[in-house]
Amino acid sequence: MVFDYAIPEGMDVRAGCRVRVPLRRKSALGTVLAVGEPVQGDFAIREIEELMDPEPLITACLLRTGEWIADYYGCNIEAVVRSLLPEAVRTEENSAKTRRVAVLAGTVEEEMLAKLAKRAPRQHAVVVLLQGAEDGRLAVAELGDGSAPVLKALEKAGIVRMESEEVRRDPDAAEDEDPEEVESTPLVLNPAQAVALEQVLRAVAEPAASKPILLLGVTGSGKTEVYLQAAQRALELGKSVLVLVPEISLTPQTVRRFKARFAAMRDQVAVLHSHLSQGERFDEWHRIRKGIARIVIGARSAVFAPLPELGLILVDEEHENTYKQENPPRYHGRDVAVLRAAFEPCAVVLGSATPSLESWHNTQLGKYDLLRLDERVDGQSMPMVRVVDMRLEATKHKGASPILSDPLRTGLEQRLERGEQSILFLNRRGFARSLQCPACGHVCQCPHCAVALTYHRTDERLVCHVCGHQAVVPRKCPECRDPAIILQGYGTQKVEEVLAKLLPKAKFARIDADAMRRKHALRDTLNAFKSHRIDILIGTQMIAKGLHFPNVTLVGILNADLGLHMPDFRAGERTFQLLTQVAGRAGRGDVEGEVIVQTFTPHSPSIQFSRRHDFDGFSEQELECRRQFGFPPYGHCAVLTARSNHERRAEFTLQTLHLRLKENLPEGIMLGEVLPAPLTRSHGQFRFQLVLRATRARALSRHVQAVLGRTSLPEDVTVVFDMDALSFS
Ligand code: ADP
Ligand code: ZN
Repeated sequence: MVFDYAIPEGMDVRAGCRVRVPLRRKSALGTVLAVGEPVQGDFAIREIEELMDPEPLITACLLRTGEWIADYYGCNIEAVVRSLLPEAVRTEENSAKTRRVAVLAGTVEEEMLAKLAKRAPRQHAVVVLLQGAEDGRLAVAELGDGSAPVLKALEKAGIVRMESEEVRRDPDAAEDEDPEEVESTPLVLNPAQAVALEQVLRAVAEPAASKPILLLGVTGSGKTEVYLQAAQRALELGKSVLVLVPEISLTPQTVRRFKARFAAMRDQVAVLHSHLSQGERFDEWHRIRKGIARIVIGARSAVFAPLPELGLILVDEEHENTYKQENPPRYHGRDVAVLRAAFEPCAVVLGSATPSLESWHNTQLGKYDLLRLDERVDGQSMPMVRVVDMRLEATKHKGASPILSDPLRTGLEQRLERGEQSILFLNRRGFARSLQCPACGHVCQCPHCAVALTYHRTDERLVCHVCGHQAVVPRKCPECRDPAIILQGYGTQKVEEVLAKLLPKAKFARIDADAMRRKHALRDTLNAFKSHRIDILIGTQMIAKGLHFPNVTLVGILNADLGLHMPDFRAGERTFQLLTQVAGRAGRGDVEGEVIVQTFTPHSPSIQFSRRHDFDGFSEQELECRRQFGFPPYGHCAVLTARSNHERRAEFTLQTLHLRLKENLPEGIMLGEVLPAPLTRSHGQFRFQLVLRATRARALSRHVQAVLGRTSLPEDVTVVFDMDALSFS
């Protein structure tokens, strides 16, 4: 909630500071959003009790960014403040960790030393230790048990001074040194990289006169090297750098390369993992705020890292969906990065081999500058892509389509013989998608969500991938009692089983959310693959991102169509991105790479354009479709969802909102119909949705906010507004 308070005489309250204020009969912590002239009114304004921060925790620029987010995404400013100030910093539960240190108060005369040596040998020993220590200071803990009375005596004699100092809870301290994490030196850039770097540096030098930069570079074109050198130069200019990645745990190689390049200034690097403890988060945040950590690497929420003197924001894999936050405030990390860069001002670079059509369109409109790296480093060619028509394979195999087509199987065998490695990509986890009865057609469904349960072989259970519900595998069809209930579709576990039969000598491993539950499992498997203790890596989406293995010469994509038939206008774009990114994992060493794509729809544009590595061609035809229907980037698309345990009430609430939205509808807004959401039921709740389109985002958000503000919703109905929605399920 937002309230007004009076500032007591002499209290230096500024926007972005936390304050203790009276709230009803208690007192509470709050964050100052703005300081203004006293409001006139016939109500009494209470006074702030205490100022918690002498300096604002939220910088003016971030506060402005936050206000923009609230307005643009139509959400409460409180939700935004919670993102700007992580809980570890906002509440009073955490504080800096301190330790007691003993410091020599000055030089100790020889005479005094001799006296101590004779009369107080323990005091003498401590003084000698302190003289040998850096800056003449040592932590009390390091002086060992029983040092307290000795120190007290020395303090009394004026020889030693006691202080307390902050210690950092270093999230990396416990981590065993990574053998690869030796400092790396900058490479000599090729001409295209040099041009890109120069442009980025120009934007760093003159941010106010520069546009955001889209760096479109094919996989393996050396984008990361450009990021690294740009970051280094910005740091040398005394500026700080923010690096956003789609997800820390899924981009270990990128994070490692940054850490390695800046190993010499390790204390100035902060990696914002989602699994930091509250204490570590508190420390990292304050290290950033104080300007000690000058290079920050993190996922979406790191866009709010309070770096002073920000000079450069790098958004790696800018097309990734994970940049969109799926609970309030539902901001897009990339878009917020662009906005923050304009407010700071600082340079911002969005990089990808398959940019989002939104960013691409912005270069066409001249809002962003475009930089391209069209060639792989060292002139390596892009991998050869072969499309295998699975309909023909099915005919060859008497109607049953095999998991591995003949060309893919032959390819894998060849690689094994030559001692090269392969990656098999499958857009699905678990063993088989669902359990279906061949007699009556019954499919085992989650009782709480409108989705089929997925069969997991390792622990013989059925799992709902929406809510996590688990069930035992039935021996007979629950519907018609037929015992012939069978498995439909296949998953990574099934692929593993088929491989074991076809290629008994191959060593393989699986990377998917199920296999990677154990801590460090992902890192260990990737390391084993890198050192060639594994021949074939089988994986889901988790292996599509930024991995680089020189010895991989074959990538097989088992079911390229999956995802193409989703009820989502971005389905084609996502499939193109995924195929292109996965294909980019092949042939990143000296040997040319090959990609085999298995599909039932070989002629779909997503497959054909990705086959030719043709982003321009794909975007041209895809944009034409979007333009015809007024979909993004030609306008904005938002979703209003209502959910409830009561089906009718959810539907009725959304219909009421629909009616109210229709009144005084601002120009340029198109209202859809109230329909059941594609995922009609989730976590036991019924879901209805209304898709809205608009030429101007803020006009739409404000209209929706206004209507929601004057509509009282039934208690058991939750309504969610998602501006620039990426998910329509
Ligand atoms: P991208 O981020 O575009 O996929 P990377 O920056 O990961 O590309 O580069 C691919 C590989 O090429 C990496 O192993 C990298 O070390 C190497 N590389 C990048 N730039 C150069 C260069 N100028 N000279 C030699 N090798 C380079
Ligand atoms: Zn469920």
